[in-house]
Parts: sequence; C-alpha cells; structure tokens
Amino acid sequence: MNHERSSALFQQARTSIPGGVNSPVRAFKSVGADPLFIKRAAGCTIYDEDGNSFIDYVGSWGPMIVGHCHPRVVEAVKRAMDNGASFGAPTELEITLADMVIAAVPSIEMVRMVSSGTEATMSAIRLARGHTGRDKILKFSGCYHGHADALLVKAGSGAATFGVPDSPGVPADFARHTLTAEYNSLESVGQLVAENRDNIACIIVEPVAGNMGTVPPREGFLEGLREICSNEGIVLIFDEVMSGFRVAYGGAQELYGVTPDMTTLGKIIGGGLPVGAFGGSREIMEKLSPSGGVYQAGTLSGNPLAMTAGIETLTLLKEPGFYDKLEEKSRQVAEGIANAARAAGYPLYSTRVGSMFCAFFTRGEVHDWPSAAACDTKAFARYFLAMLNEGIYLAPSQFETAFVSAAHDDAAIEKTIAAAAKCFKMIA
Ligand SMILES: *Cc1c(COP(=O)(O)O)cnc(C)c1O
Repeated sequence: MNHERSSALFQQARTSIPGGVNSPVRAFKSVGADPLFIKRAAGCTIYDEDGNSFIDYVGSWGPMIVGHCHPRVVEAVKRAMDNGASFGAPTELEITLADMVIAAVPSIEMVRMVSSGTEATMSAIRLARGHTGRDKILKFSGCYHGHADALLVKAGSGAATFGVPDSPGVPADFARHTLTAEYNSLESVGQLVAENRDNIACIIVEPVAGNMGTVPPREGFLEGLREICSNEGIVLIFDEVMSGFRVAYGGAQELYGVTPDMTTLGKIIGGGLPVGAFGGSREIMEKLSPSGGVYQAGTLSGNPLAMTAGIETLTLLKEPGFYDKLEEKSRQVAEGIANAARAAGYPLYSTRVGSMFCAFFTRGEVHDWPSAAACDTKAFARYFLAMLNEGIYLAPSQFETAFVSAAHDDAAIEKTIAAAAKCFKMIA
C-alpha cells in the first residue's frame, strides 16, 4: 500500500504544527509509523490522500455513530450555514438540543453547552467545587477526562498518595488536589474518602472506561460509588463524553441503572462538530453563572452549526431499533476478531460494551489500569500495521476503544474478520 503523499504531508506538517498533528494520538507514534492524511469519508469508509480506502473503526474517536457524512446531517448543517455560522446570541436550536439531552439522560435536569469534552469536565469540576465548597477531587487511574490541569494526573506510588502531574506545565500545587483511585476497586475509593473526609468535592469516573482500551465496570462498582457519594455529600460525576448516546441512548447511566449527580457529554452530541455539555440536577446547575456565582462562558458555545449536527444525529439515534441493530453488528465484529485470534492460537482478552470494543494483547483479564498496562504493546503495533495494510483502520494504540457505527454493513464486517484472521496468523 502506497503512503507517499501522506508521508510527504506529514513531513511538511511537522515544520508548522508541533509533531505534525493537532492532537497527539493522531501521530501514530506508539505504533512506530507515520499518520495517514485523510481526504474524505463516507459511511464506514475513510479515504486517504494516496487514494487508499479503509474500513474505519475510529469514527473520529467516537462521534460518528451514524457513519460519516450521513445525508440528513450534511443537509441540515448546510442549511444552517446559510442562516449564519455564529451569532453570540441565544438561538432556538440550543433549547431543542438541551431538551433532547434532558429527555435522554436520567441525571440531567439542566444542561450547559460548551465546545469540547475537556471544557465540559473542567467546568463540571469547577461547579462541583463551587457547590460543595470543597477543593479535592477523586479520579481513577487510566481514566481520561480531557487535558485540564487538575485532570492530567495518574496514581502516584500506592493508591493513597496525592497526585503527581503527568505533564510538565501542570503546577504540583494544582495536582495536589487530585486523588487517584484504582478503577473497579471500591476499596481504594473507600480508603481515600476516609482519609479525606469532608474535603472531596467530586468523584469523576468514566462509567465504561474507554481510554485504557474498553474496560467495563465490574458488577456493583458504579452502585458502590453512588452509595459512597450519597453518604459523604460528594458530587458523583459520570464522564460520558464517550459513552453518552453510545452504549445506550441515555448513556451508561441508563444501561447500568445508576444515576450520578452530574454528567459530562461530548463526541456524539456534536455529530462530528465541536460540542461538549455538562448537566445535572437543577439545584447544582442553577449555581452556574449568570443564575449563580460559578463562572463559565464560551464565545462559540451552543454554536448553531454544531447544535444542528447534534440535533440531527440524536434524531437518527431515536429511530426504533437503532441500538439493537448496532449491538448485533458490534457483537459480530468483536466476536469475529476474538475467534480469529483463538483460531490462530493468539492470546487475547476481548471486551465490549455495545458498540465500544477492544482486543487486549494479554493472557490475563483487564479490569483496571495495571492489568491494561500489562499488555504486549509491541505485538499490538504489529497487528495494527498489518490490519492497516489490509484496509482496516483501527486506533493507533492498544489503549483505545474501537467504535462500530450504523454504517458498518455485513460486507465491511466480513472483510474485517477475514483481515483479522490473516493478521493474527501473520504475527503469531
Ligand atoms: C474524549 C474524551 C474527553 C475529552 O474530550 P475532548 O473533546 O477531546 O476535549 C473527556 N472525557 C472522555 C471520557 C473522553 O473520551
């Protein structure tokens, strides 16, 4: 497969854009290759600058659940553009999308729109702190909540240590307020909560962890968090930027029947345009400026083009049977890949929640960051490059989720499974 033009563009990009990309994981660094430059996409297929085509399991990292360039979304956004790209004043579109989100997500009585998932989680945490008058926050090792200072923190040595910043430029003083527990371990949460009684504003969690591969919550984990937060006056935040409208129309909170106090959204609610949102109970949300004192703002928040793409996408998701069909496609492709590995005698731990799935290159089970980190990332890189060569575009990291869209048809799924069978034999 020829990547000449992509490689030339990457060289060119590196002179004007740090690392040649506008978001790090796009750089293919962890698989030791140059990124492909994409020209266009349609349905479940993306096309690169060299004229190669691929079946796409990245889906812009989650948003493209109805497939690329769905005609209804494209038409609606073109029409919205004719009315003006941005006004910096309220529009009816914002009420329409807000009401759709409120109707869908059990925990949300009021919602504020922002322009990215990072903005959503950052603002939700500020509001939780303003609401409780407490400074500390608790997150989980291996969970990603965007790149705000306080959230770029993983576990230090031992579960009970204070956070250490993951990145230069994050003051240790900021990271100090971030406690890190182990995903799926209520024990690690209980210990930190006991040591920091009346000081923790919120627990933020991906109810289905999707940024260390796909790691489902163990039975009782989300319920346990709910109980701890209710008992201790801690705001429970589900970061559903990835899982919202993905694992069910009402997100993981609908799927597992556990209702947090606040929820952050992004990805799918923008239908491919830049949108994030955070919402929760009326009591908490009314503390937000201008009805309350917790400040939060955005020049392009609630942008009419983005609202339109979101409204059209959510409307498509509401069609009867949408999630049942997506579940069946996702089951076929995830099981097909796992079976192909088994047939080749290749050790793999396969996980899936709805249309999110992951093939972990490990003999053990994966329930948290230490077990995810034990994967053979070199073997994954060989698999990734072999699959790419077969026309299958996976995320270029072991620690990412694969996304299935409604546009993945039988032929695409069959081709994917056949490619996996060939690639596992090749790398075994
Ligand atoms: C993608 C993601 C974010 C960050 O969203 P951006 O739009 O990239 O800022 C936050 N939380 C989760 C769970 C995500 O998957």
